[in-house]
Order: sequence, then C-alpha cells, then structure tokens
Amino acid sequence: MSLDTAVPDPSDRGAGETAVVAVRDLVYDYPTARALFGVSFDIAPGSITALVGPNGAGKTTLMRCLAALETPYSGSVAVDGLDVEEHPRQVHERMGFLQDFFGLYDDLTVRRCLDYHAAARSVPAPERRAAIERSAQRLGLSDRLDQRAGTLSRGLRQRLAVAQAIIHRPSLLLLDEPASGLDPEARQDLSRLLLALQAEGMTLVVSSHILAELEDYSTHMMIMHQGRITEHSAIGKMAETAATPMRVVLAEPHDALQGVLEGAAGVSAVAADGRGASFVFTGDDAARAGLLRQLVEAGVPVAAFHPEQRSMQDVYLERLQRDRGNGAGGGS
Ligand code: ATP
Repeated sequence: MSLDTAVPDPSDRGAGETAVVAVRDLVYDYPTARALFGVSFDIAPGSITALVGPNGAGKTTLMRCLAALETPYSGSVAVDGLDVEEHPRQVHERMGFLQDFFGLYDDLTVRRCLDYHAAARSVPAPERRAAIERSAQRLGLSDRLDQRAGTLSRGLRQRLAVAQAIIHRPSLLLLDEPASGLDPEARQDLSRLLLALQAEGMTLVVSSHILAELEDYSTHMMIMHQGRITEHSAIGKMAETAATPMRVVLAEPHDALQGVLEGAAGVSAVAADGRGASFVFTGDDAARAGLLRQLVEAGVPVAAFHPEQRSMQDVYLERLQRDRGNGAGGGS
C-alpha cells in the first residue's frame, strides 16, 4: 500500500457521484482460488446494507477489500471518493470495521482498549475521554471500563469490538457477523444501536447469517454467491418485483374466483378455500391493480386483497435457489 498523499477533496466529486462506497470490477485471488469475480456496486449514503450469502460466498473477502486490508488483483474500491489502496489512512479515519474474527489487547482494560482505538483513528486527545464514555455507554460497557479485556466473556468481547469500531464516529461502518456470541437482549440492543447510528447519518454494511435480525434494520439486501453479487436492491423493491404470495378474501363464497385467478396473467399456484384464495403473483403494482379490477368486474365480492407477509429469509432462499439453478447466478 502506498502512503497517503495528495488526498482529493470529496466535495470535488462530479455530479451523480454520491455513493459512500463505489466498487468497480473487483477481482480478488487467494493463492489457490479466485474469491471475487469482477464485483461492482455502489452503497448509498444513509443505507444499511445486509450482505448475505452462503458460507464461502466471498462476504468476508469483500469486506476486507472494502476496508483496505487486502489488495485485490484488479478493480477499485472508493470510500467517500477516496481510493482505499491509495489513501488507506484517510479511509480508516472515516470507517469503522468489525471483523468476523478479531483480536483484543487482552492485557489492557476496556478503557485503554477504547483509548488506543480512539488515538489510532485520530480522535483528538481532549475529546477521547468523552468518546470512550459514549461508546462504552452505547454498548452497555460503562461498568466494565476498568476490567481487563482478557477477562471479558465472549459476548462482552464482541460488544467491546463494536465499541472500538464506532469510537471515532465513522461515516461508514462495516460489521462482519456483529451479533455473533451476543445474548438475545444484547442482539436486540445491537439492532437498536445500528438504527440509531443510521439516524445520526452513518452508512452501514452488515454481514450476517441471521436474516430475521437483518430484517429489523436493513434498507438494502446484497446477495453474494460464488464470488459474485447476484442481487442488490432496496428491500421493499426486492419483495415487490419477486413472485409475491398474495391473498384474496371474499365477503361471501363466489364460483368465479378460481377461474378468474387461473386465467389471469402472472398468477400461479392458486389454492382456493372457503374464505377466498392464496396464489402467487408476478408483476408490478399496475398489474396487481389490473388483477383486482378483473376480479371485481367478474362480480367476485372482494373484501381484502393483499400480499402475504414475506420475510427477508423467504426472499433470500428464493433467490439462492434461482442462482443455483443458473450456475453462479447473474453478473455483478
Ligand atoms: P462465511 O459465510 O463462511 O464466513 P464468506 O462468504 O465470508 O463465508 P470468504 O471467507 O470470503 O466467504 O471466502 C470466500 C472464498 O475464498 C471461499 O471459497 C474460501 O474457501 C476462500 N478463502 C477464504 N480465505 C482463504 C485463504 N486464506 N486462502 C485460500 N482461500 C481462502
């Protein structure tokens, strides 16, 4: 890595270059295998992106490249307009990174660990005490400040690592499996903390296998499969464009229901019952409105017509099945 010289002013960026993270054609090779195959994407300011994918998909490798801890074979990563390879120090001052496997300075107290990280991230000395107290308080470590890191439980070590990652109030926070080892209450607190950090203007990328938790706070989902990004969308948009399970409820039974549904474009898997029917619908909002109109015009007494709740996990598993069917899936 080169020394950080001639740092460009982020305000010099051209119109449209608003991404906090811009990744272009990123290729990363381990000695024995390629782990990233020309990955490209942008991360919008203020978003919380859930980075998901099966074991070995390349999530950790990608995170480490974003954090300038690995040198890719080709391609580029820019954070706030700064190339991470050319300006690693400036990037690290803007970024917090919690690695999936991390070390702590076991002989130092929690306070000293936080102080060390604050200093390493250029927090001015007069501000460090307040920064330590704020970070410790946010992670429920205020009563542990004088305890040595080596004597903390696994979950408390995880909390300390998150506290270290946010001590300098970065504008971008990368978290690789942040909830690992946390008890249920601490996981809920972590979800709240991530939303609070977002509300303060931070942009977050969170890798995790616990989709139910990611759903609590993520604005975007990025799916990796075999070293490629196979999906990257706003979560609402993703659910809208996918085949969506729908439910129609009738005021009273009507013979025409099943026939109208089975004859309509975009409808499959119709299962009628005494109160109405469930079916799968593929189409946008206008197509959905058209289907409702068809039912009403056929005299079907529609009392309710709505998507059945689909979790992030449902969408993820559906996409994964599709990607496996396509080989490695779509390009990045
Ligand atoms: P997980 O969900 O299991 O943490 P991941 O999506 O984070 O997986 P990576 O750890 O980035 O995946 O690994 C991507 C690919 O690179 C895998 O095929 C893995 O075996 C390979 N890989 C990772 N680290 C090394 C290494 N040090 N040397 C060689 N290959 C590696």
